[in-house]
Amino acid sequence: MKRLAILGSTGSIGQSTLTVVAEHPGEFAVVGLAAGQNVKVLAEQVIKFHPALVSVQDEEVAGRLRALLPREMAPEILTGAEGAIRVATADGVDLVVSAMVGAVGLEPTLAAVQAGIPVALANKETLVAAGPLVMAAAKERGVPLIPVDSEHSAIFQALQGQRREDIRRLWLTASGGPFRTFPAARLAQVTAAEALRHPNWSMGPKITIDSATMMNKALEVIEASFLFGLPVDQIEVVIHPQSIVHSLVEFVDGSVIAQMGVPDMRLPIAYALSYPRRLPLNSSPLDLCKTGQLTFEAPDLDRFPGLKLGYAAARQGGTMPAVFNAANEVAVAAFLAGRLNFPGIPRVAAQTMAAHQPQPLESLAKVLSVNLWARNFAQDLINRGK
Ligand code: MG
Repeated sequence: MKRLAILGSTGSIGQSTLTVVAEHPGEFAVVGLAAGQNVKVLAEQVIKFHPALVSVQDEEVAGRLRALLPREMAPEILTGAEGAIRVATADGVDLVVSAMVGAVGLEPTLAAVQAGIPVALANKETLVAAGPLVMAAAKERGVPLIPVDSEHSAIFQALQGQRREDIRRLWLTASGGPFRTFPAARLAQVTAAEALRHPNWSMGPKITIDSATMMNKALEVIEASFLFGLPVDQIEVVIHPQSIVHSLVEFVDGSVIAQMGVPDMRLPIAYALSYPRRLPLNSSPLDLCKTGQLTFEAPDLDRFPGLKLGYAAARQGGTMPAVFNAANEVAVAAFLAGRLNFPGIPRVAAQTMAAHQPQPLESLAKVLSVNLWARNFAQDLINRGK
């Protein structure tokens, strides 16, 4: 039995993870769950999976959770960043599923790595904001970081049995999101509701907006760079609207290995949970005859400048990717709240990056202070309507 701690259990990835767990009785035990404030879903998870440890945002949320649990069910309920760290580093945890949204996932994930616990990584912001720190800690402790993101899982799968030095390039596929074919003028008018309608993947709101702006792909390029130890100039993005080819590895001899499957997050999640084994899943099989066509095209960096920004942030390195990520988080929240238009998201990120002088990223304190600075700067730009 693999003992799991799931950070971000009520989010899209967290819920899919628990679906995979429930489909494989006897394979996994859930020892800890960390969530924010969705007590209704969390209470159902606690009742179904009996974790010994639970963490939520704060005491008020903890009170509401307690009220929803039957009396005989009394997990230890922790709160705040400290609570999430305790869940991530609890005794006997074999694998931490890091699936919180945003930079808030960094501290508990890093704590798990430092405690020597393997991590199934879905929280891309962890590596974007603090890649050098997290990778150094993982190397020092010999901790595997197993990607959950579908593209990185595809690359991870394509690399099994291969030598790192034989890689020429990585190719990340991108669906292009709901606005792939929209002219620039139309992009200025799109609403949050339109942006939340992703054509292929069912995901949480933050990543769905990131997908529409292609900021998600920018974050993924940076994530891949850290995860696979390659400069971003060896990482390419190709638009593939059908989301069947999840990513590809090109080797020095010109051979290209791709991983394919139906777009269902349970697949990369199950692989990360059971690696190097594969768990049977009752997913609908990939029917290539029915799919018919797989198409590919170059991304349009003029209409989707977020992708360019991501490459720029990675090349500047140090604290810049953390700034890029933090500004984007604030801008996405403002867009969802109707306070910023769609092109404003990459604009706020670009302006915040322009105001920042990248520094070496040597400590968690540095990451957190730069993150806070960038959030405040971006928020101020939005408040002033810039
Ligand atoms: Mg992805």
